[in-house]
Amino acid sequence: MNKKYVYMFDQGRGDKRELLGGKGANLAEMTRIGLPVPYGFTISTEACNAYYDAGKTISENIRQQILESLQNLEQQTGKTLGDPENPLLVSVRSGAVHSMPGMMDTVLNLGMNDETVEGMAKLTNNPRFAYDSYRRFIQMFSDVVLKVDGFYFEQLLEEVREEKGYETDPEMTAADWQEVIQGYKELVKKHTKSSFPQDPKEQMFLSVEAVFDSWNNQRAIVYRRLQKIPGHLGTAVNIQSMVFGNMGDDSGTGVAFTRNPSTGEAKLYGEYLINAQGEDVVAGIRTPQPIVTLQNEMPEVYEQFVDTCNLLEKHYQDMQDIEFTVERGQLFILQTRNGKRTAQAAIKVAVDLVEENILSKREALLRVDPDQLNQLLHSRIDDAFVRNPLTKGLPASPGAATGKVVFDADEADRLAKEEKKVILVRPETTPDDIHGIVAAQATVTSRGGMTSHAAVVARGMGKACICGCESVSIDLKEKRFKVGETIVKEGDVITIDGSTGEIFLGEIPMIDPQLSEEFQLLLTWADQERTLGVRANADNPEDAKKAVEFGAGGIGLCRTEHMFMDVARIPIVQQMILADTYEEREVALSKLLPMQQEDFEGIFEAMQGRPVTIRLLDPPLHEFLPDKEELLVDVTKLQMTSPESEELKQKEYLLRKVRQIDEFNPMLGHRGCRLGMTFPEIYEMQAKAIFYAISKMRTKGIDVKPEIMIPLVGHVNELKEMRRLVINAGVQIEQETGEDFDYLVGTMIEVPRAALTADQIAEEADFFSFGTNDLTQSTFGYSRDDAEGKFLQSYIESKVLPENPFAVLDQDGVGKLVETGVKLGRGTKPELKTGICGEHGGEKTSIEFCHEVGLDYVSCSPYRVPLARLAAAQATIKHELRQSVAEFQAQK
Ligand code: PEP
Ligand code: MG
Repeated sequence: MNKKYVYMFDQGRGDKRELLGGKGANLAEMTRIGLPVPYGFTISTEACNAYYDAGKTISENIRQQILESLQNLEQQTGKTLGDPENPLLVSVRSGAVHSMPGMMDTVLNLGMNDETVEGMAKLTNNPRFAYDSYRRFIQMFSDVVLKVDGFYFEQLLEEVREEKGYETDPEMTAADWQEVIQGYKELVKKHTKSSFPQDPKEQMFLSVEAVFDSWNNQRAIVYRRLQKIPGHLGTAVNIQSMVFGNMGDDSGTGVAFTRNPSTGEAKLYGEYLINAQGEDVVAGIRTPQPIVTLQNEMPEVYEQFVDTCNLLEKHYQDMQDIEFTVERGQLFILQTRNGKRTAQAAIKVAVDLVEENILSKREALLRVDPDQLNQLLHSRIDDAFVRNPLTKGLPASPGAATGKVVFDADEADRLAKEEKKVILVRPETTPDDIHGIVAAQATVTSRGGMTSHAAVVARGMGKACICGCESVSIDLKEKRFKVGETIVKEGDVITIDGSTGEIFLGEIPMIDPQLSEEFQLLLTWADQERTLGVRANADNPEDAKKAVEFGAGGIGLCRTEHMFMDVARIPIVQQMILADTYEEREVALSKLLPMQQEDFEGIFEAMQGRPVTIRLLDPPLHEFLPDKEELLVDVTKLQMTSPESEELKQKEYLLRKVRQIDEFNPMLGHRGCRLGMTFPEIYEMQAKAIFYAISKMRTKGIDVKPEIMIPLVGHVNELKEMRRLVINAGVQIEQETGEDFDYLVGTMIEVPRAALTADQIAEEADFFSFGTNDLTQSTFGYSRDDAEGKFLQSYIESKVLPENPFAVLDQDGVGKLVETGVKLGRGTKPELKTGICGEHGGEKTSIEFCHEVGLDYVSCSPYRVPLARLAAAQATIKHELRQSVAEFQAQK
């Protein structure tokens, strides 16, 4: 029996890519499921290889099979190739196993000749269209098949246009196109020494050969080499009947989504034009009709189209974006693909498809990109707005905001109290600026990266923030900033988009955040799937409440230094730092203790018994003191104006102190547990405040089990000592109150030595929390405050690094330390609780990694909690899917 080389579309299948190529397999699949795709046949990749084996000739056997298939196609369509009364026109396209876009050749409108063009002119009642199609065919065929350079045709067309005084093609009339056709035919004769082939079958075979040949053209070979596609695969050729939407008022063309791509509403959404080609819809010359009116104009077609949409959605289990054409009352689907959609639509479609029994809940969970959820939790710039940003920085915290520019935190605070909307613009922020960040709609800094102070604080509060915007040159004295030649003064209005890092002049229309029922439902499904806990980083009762509202299971990091920054407390904190004696420091600490206790009570109350991880003081002390340079300026001025004043004495004293504690490398300096080791009374005060707060909560019937966390431990002895200090404080308050406290003492793992000696550290720890901000800083040796502004961005752009490691966990390096830390720690203490509280805890790929290495929870800013819940669910599902594939393969 003869080997089969040619397959009608209804003889193939979607899984026969090797034989039919990607496009052929797809067309076969669409035909198989009953879609009205324009009919045709596929000449297999094996035929391509046979063509080459036979010295680039199509064997008689294959030739016969092609002719039989053509006959079949003619019967099915009722049209005949070359019939002037009712001509069949076809496209001839390549179709490799792996997509090689634009690398091989295509011929459209094949079957046109001097006679069929007349038939087309009559049938469409549009001679201009017919002649234009014919001249396009001659041009394409000559270029692809006859190898006459397209340039000659372009040149001729240009000449005719000029002669007629036209600027563009649409001005050409039918007679003009006839003239061009004549010229084209002469060109062919001149270059090939023979006439343009008029026999459509000859056209077809020549085209098939040309497509086979194009498998080995220069660009295809180079592309294959680059993409590592084997050269022996060959290409298939698809011959498909052309359909025309411009054959009268019973024809048309359009595009439609099976659901609304903006809202997700389960209602057809799209438009069409009667008696038109696809180009007419795109060109926008005529205004298309909304798809619903097709119901009145062509009721049967509409009904069939609706059925087709349902079929397609069921088959592809997703919302489809469909191109269709109606030719003399008959519907054809030209293309279908999964439709692009907004975040809101993505969620609604996924949830609805579950309710319609098309998707399972797990499949639906995988359909929504966790990053998209951010869009829904923050205001954003209206999609319709055409973006023309003034400049761009790092997208440090999502959301969009508009306001008047201010350059000072106090000013921001003052104006906000007057209900004014402001945007705080600073070279960088320090803990001193917190009230300004709180008061402003958004913050912009010209320095600092994704884990800089401004970024972390703004994310925690769900406020938009752009960092490291180096092109913004700020003049604090003149109260203005410059971007190139543009000057923005205090009080000028700007809009920022923290999701893209863009800054715009003036006010821009916004869309408010929406939390739909579907959104909540999807997250409940996520909670049922995930095994990874999700906590929040929160430092005050408001953030804690937000965290609970967004579904956090507890607090994974409460940074106590943020509480020290309250304007009312700063003088007491400074008193504590500046104290020369233990006794002096005790006075300040005894004032701070009740304040801290109140803070903890507020948080415990908001968390209603959920776990709360409280980290004892972490940053270098100079962060709480005035700026050294500002002090120096003040002192110099005072020395000149009032050399005897009390103020000068005070400032000189302060300057001396600031100089004493000043460090070259504060990030590697006297911070974290090193502070607790040298000033144990500070940690002791904090521990006592926690215990008093537990006792107070009990009177309100709230049971609290805090997790007290020691930062920046590098050696087990540090933790041993700090743990003892906390426990002693606990015993003391237990004796005082007569109560028993249930709590944990653990550590952050945020320097490489801690991860590498985690087995020893675990002896003293009830839990580990990976501080991957510092761990990234200390593993790479990149300053987390400077690297992004200085060189990291260019590293990322030039692909030295694949991602910003402060935003996306570097799994190969930092991740290896996390994994090592977990293994070593659990080797010592199998029940050791582990989590992550660096910024990576709110990033989807890092969350998946955390799941894979067996962490118990991730902790991130409250506004990222929904994202983390979904990403954690996806991590569980993906892991299980991978596992079942592996098991299946092992069984085989
Ligand atoms: C960290 O280092 O990852 C961390 C959470 O602590 P901070 O950002 O406060 O240094
Ligand atoms: Mg840290």
